[in-house]
Amino acid sequence: MSEETMSRALERAVSLIQKSKSFYVGTHIRPDGDALGSLLALSLALECRQKRVARLCADPAPASYGFLAGADRISPKPPDWTADMGIVVDCDGIGRLGPLEAVFERLPRLLDVDHHATGQTFGEVRLVDPSAGAAAEIVYELVRSLGVEIGPDIAACLYAGILTDTGRFTYGNASSDSLRIASELVEAGADPHGIARNIYEDRSVAATHLLGIALARLSANDDAGVVSAMLTRRDFVETGAAASETEGIIDHLRAIGGRRVALLFVETDGDRVRVSLRSDGSVDVSAVALQFGGGGHAMAAGCTVQGRGEEVRDKLLAAVRGALRAANAGHDS
Ligand code: AMP
Ligand code: MN
Ligand code: MN
Repeated sequence: MSEETMSRALERAVSLIQKSKSFYVGTHIRPDGDALGSLLALSLALECRQKRVARLCADPAPASYGFLAGADRISPKPPDWTADMGIVVDCDGIGRLGPLEAVFERLPRLLDVDHHATGQTFGEVRLVDPSAGAAAEIVYELVRSLGVEIGPDIAACLYAGILTDTGRFTYGNASSDSLRIASELVEAGADPHGIARNIYEDRSVAATHLLGIALARLSANDDAGVVSAMLTRRDFVETGAAASETEGIIDHLRAIGGRRVALLFVETDGDRVRVSLRSDGSVDVSAVALQFGGGGHAMAAGCTVQGRGEEVRDKLLAAVRGALRAANAGHDS
């Protein structure tokens, strides 16, 4: 989005917020660091402006994010009061709210704050910038436009969002804006060492065993540069790991030299498979994920597909290989 369009959307977002007194702030199912950091920072900022806020997410925050201010106030159910306005952060489509979608759709005003590129925007105002490394970067601009002074709590939430979504400032989406904002957040009181320790150095033994299983089972003998691994429901029972403890496993697959696309398949309840896709830029994996009802970014995307593990894996691998062939043909012509 151009700077001009974005600053106009910011102005409209601020005026909509100023008109409202009470808010539901929501984010996507299975929340990650950007989802939680954006939700919690924005909620704190609205409270600084004397607004009433409910923090909503259908799934609980992983324990490693419990240190973020207000994490203990996130609820899967709406409160007994109705809000004037809903703000949805880091959601590639309103469906990403899961069971909370209907709750937000009923609200009189809706603001979409996001950085996904698949165009599944919604709401009266759409503050969506696919060039942002994290939704937290957009929330940072919004909080400042609201005239809220950023203190250590808001700073830590936003820093956590940018840190995690840019892969500790190493993915292709990490820009000079990501680093500039992060630097300003550290000046405002975010503690980079403490935040990184909480997020990355708190893995349980069970989750470490689960990581070991994924790595031992990885299949990388593929000419096209596709690597993948599968975790079954049985692996979770045997290790005792929670369903939320798969974060970070895909990074070990994407770190393999020569890899073009990495996929992690995780069997979940109800005969479904959660798929994470990562690309080195050779193909847009969000387009593949979109074919299967998911979405994301060109280099990091995901979807949840009905079916058994092997069946879903074969379909996804065929789609990825097809996309790689099409990309190669495009380069050759
Ligand atoms: P993950 O592999 O879960 O870390 O997700 C990678 C990216 O894809 C993130 O930006 C997610 O928001 C997005 N994503 C993951 N699953 C879905 C889905 N089912 N629908 C839309 N976007 C998704
Ligand atoms: Mn997210
Ligand atoms: Mn994000």
